[in-house]
Amino acid sequence: RYPTAQLRALDAAHHFHPFTDTKALNAEGSRIITAAKGVWLTDSDGNRILDGMAGLWCAQVGHGREEIADAVHRQMTELSYYNTFFKTTHPPVIALAEKLAEVSPPQFNRTFFCSSGSEANDTVFRMVRFYWDQMGKPEKKIIIGRWNGYHGSTLAGTSLGGMKAMHEQGDLPVPGVRHIPQPYWFGEGGDMSPAEFGIWAARELEKAIDHHGEDKVAAFIAEPIQGAGGVIIPPETYWPEVQRILKERDILFVADEVICGFGRLGTWFGSEYYGIEPDLMPIAKGLTSGYLPMGGVLVSDKVAAGVIDKGGEFYHGYTYSGHPACAAAALANLEIIQREKLVERVANDIGPYLQARWRALGEHPLVGEARMTGLVGALELVPEKGNRKKAFPNTGTVGTMCRDISFRNGLIMRAVRDSMIISPPLVITHGEADQLVAIAKKTLDDTHAELKR
Ligand code: PLP
Repeated sequence: RYPTAQLRALDAAHHFHPFTDTKALNAEGSRIITAAKGVWLTDSDGNRILDGMAGLWCAQVGHGREEIADAVHRQMTELSYYNTFFKTTHPPVIALAEKLAEVSPPQFNRTFFCSSGSEANDTVFRMVRFYWDQMGKPEKKIIIGRWNGYHGSTLAGTSLGGMKAMHEQGDLPVPGVRHIPQPYWFGEGGDMSPAEFGIWAARELEKAIDHHGEDKVAAFIAEPIQGAGGVIIPPETYWPEVQRILKERDILFVADEVICGFGRLGTWFGSEYYGIEPDLMPIAKGLTSGYLPMGGVLVSDKVAAGVIDKGGEFYHGYTYSGHPACAAAALANLEIIQREKLVERVANDIGPYLQARWRALGEHPLVGEARMTGLVGALELVPEKGNRKKAFPNTGTVGTMCRDISFRNGLIMRAVRDSMIISPPLVITHGEADQLVAIAKKTLDDTHAELKR
């Protein structure tokens, strides 16, 4: 409708972008995405760009699937909206709740719906405290999260997350939240081996619980793999030790599955990949592959016994909890994931295929570590190959440069500090995976050359 320059001017005049220095962006001009199909985006100048991030880690089934659009259209013409408060419900939300009970681990049979991952974690925050009130232990209030974890942008989400820059804007976290170190061996493992460091990081949880007292701690929240924190894949020793610590104490375990859920690690949920047994699982993103906004909290039978079966009203909910059109999008999306066996495909086919090629990028002189589990991976860029303890000055500058070069080369990668992240749609073909790696390689070469200038 408008040429790029005109769109950019309108964007600069009226649009306040999330997570963006909008003033700095406007000096450069925003990138205008006009269409998407499969793993490919098209911009307003007609360039094709490989979406190595599946949007924001969400487009599991790829972009532009007409059957999702059709399902939403059908639902909108039949019942475009009704709420799920008080005593009402409707067929799409019933079908979706049943489907989620089918695909999730056996202890999960109920879902509380909302519209995003942030709302899911706000719900978690209130639900764990409601649970302990219901169980006659109202003094259990503290929730422990991890530094550099990400659980959303609302007050509770930001507080549970461990992004210090976010905390500084707004005097957060809210009271009753504590943070422990993340299991980030490459950056913070010091002289420990990954195995030793995994145990050390898990025991920080034990120390925190014992410091505050088991009778004061309500829950521990963590992503199976920290996504926005930089694809922090924990050492193998980490999760079994965390599980032991939590099993020995009466504390709820919340696995934030907003990124790891719906096949990203080659299992329906990231907790299954690690063999951990959470009590609550916030979900969003891959639930609808981003076609419409929807989130939720999967509630285990243990928690349901307190917050549902015991009776008593949980004074919490959203106008759009279980929105019929979003539920229809989610159902159509989950049907595609099942029919095309995308979870199995990540575990046995495209996952191992891309992992091998991605890890080979670890040979590049600029890369200190290339890691990937399922279809989520990172490249740690380093100034001195073989020395993971030496970082670039002005953290983030090289990552941002590399990200911009990647975009120009036709691949969306995300930069977190000085590491490059990918999390492509689960439908990416072998040929497209080869293209992704070829562009990533060229991007590393170009960045390396630029740094030498
Ligand atoms: N939890 C995790 C693990 C996330 O990665 C995100 C978003 O990136 C959120 C929660 C927040 O989700 P939303 O952006 O839908 O509010």
